[in-house]
Amino acid sequence: MESERVVDFQSLTENVGRFNLRNKTFLIPQMSKIGSHLIAATFRGFGVNAKVMDTCKGLDLGKEYTSGKECYPCQITTGDILYFLKKEEERLGEDFNPKNCVYFMPESDGPCRFGMYNKYQRIVLDSFPELKSIKIGSLTTKDGYSLAGIVEKERAGDLRKATYFSIVLADILDRLLWKIRPYEKEPGMADDFIERSMHVMEDSFEKYGANKDFDKILDKMEEIIKEGKAIIDPNIPAKPLIGIVGEIYLRTHVQANQDLIRVLEKYGAEVINASIAEWINYTAYDRFREAKIGFRFSLKQLRLGSMRYYLKRIIGFGGDLLYQEFRQNQAYKRVRSLIDLAEDHKVADLDNILKEKDLFCFDVGTEACLSIAGIVEYARGGYNGVVNVYPFNCMPSTITSAIVKPLMNELRIPYLDTSYDSSFQPGKETAIRTFMYQAYQHFKRNGRKRQI
Ligand code: SF4
Repeated sequence: MESERVVDFQSLTENVGRFNLRNKTFLIPQMSKIGSHLIAATFRGFGVNAKVMDTCKGLDLGKEYTSGKECYPCQITTGDILYFLKKEEERLGEDFNPKNCVYFMPESDGPCRFGMYNKYQRIVLDSFPELKSIKIGSLTTKDGYSLAGIVEKERAGDLRKATYFSIVLADILDRLLWKIRPYEKEPGMADDFIERSMHVMEDSFEKYGANKDFDKILDKMEEIIKEGKAIIDPNIPAKPLIGIVGEIYLRTHVQANQDLIRVLEKYGAEVINASIAEWINYTAYDRFREAKIGFRFSLKQLRLGSMRYYLKRIIGFGGDLLYQEFRQNQAYKRVRSLIDLAEDHKVADLDNILKEKDLFCFDVGTEACLSIAGIVEYARGGYNGVVNVYPFNCMPSTITSAIVKPLMNELRIPYLDTSYDSSFQPGKETAIRTFMYQAYQHFKRNGRKRQI
């Protein structure tokens, strides 16, 4: 692949957006491994040829085609798509036709750089004449990640529901792994088991997702939980409980965070990471909240057209949120009757925590809203330590750190900020080990509230 740098700004609007996926290969980057695979399986159930791309194999390419000022997830995903296309070109030769692919890169509005990844990657892809024809399929937080337009209109709602459900069950499978791995009877048992279970769930979503036969999927999940529980060695005593918050990509992408959860486990932790569904709920909640504010404002000014507009949004986003919370509760209720997995935070509760303590505000937006309030929830839940994980220089996570550090000092709960880029930091493991020593002291003094 030969690159030539000419920026065609029209391409940023024409070739980035929502495109119909019929007869296309939908390329999904890996963030949470389980999450990406279950989403792809759900799309396949709807007749879309969805594929999860390998990750980090193209990191050198990602670094070559970024300047170093971009966030680390942007470097990784740039490398992932370039590497995938390069390999496809080698594999298919003359038959290689990127026009048949849609590369998935969502975006968010607000003050940080996530809204620009797909624009930047468009410029990079356009710099290779043979890659100009690949489209970037982008969903946005502006409409709560609506899937309208990417499949037939009458199926878009069902696809969104099934995809959301796949995200919830991927969170649950991840939580099962973090629950059983610190107490496994033999090293490696939990990882092998979860890998197998991921494939079982992929089959379930492919088979039942399109018909929204969620009970059948939950039946399978129950079987997995029962089998997974048997991996726990009852003779291993309870360990300090550590909560993770932070930037969504870094905290869920195992290679990007240099397998942080495993390192914490190595030094004696049981870990719970914030979920991905929480972010989806947050986007629906935030749009709902904005619509309510807009409606009140229009009411004061008696602007009927605008009132109607906001009312429609209140009903739409309020409905999405209600549905999501209903499905999430349904899934957690079933699995929690079998094992004590951590439930997800309710976004309205997180909003109330910020208001009550006047720590931050949803008006500012970003993941800092979730991380700051999530940390307070962990503290109230009797966790023995909290880790904030993020890409080097990440804006929302730096805000989180500035607000939370003094608070954790006051509460006397061990707290660690840990940022990552592609470099290896020799002092990192020492910092984690020291943090775990403090967490263990906290655990000895206060115990922990959750069961194994
Ligand atoms: S959340 Fe952080 S890493 Fe992600 S785009 Fe924003 S600044 Fe970059």
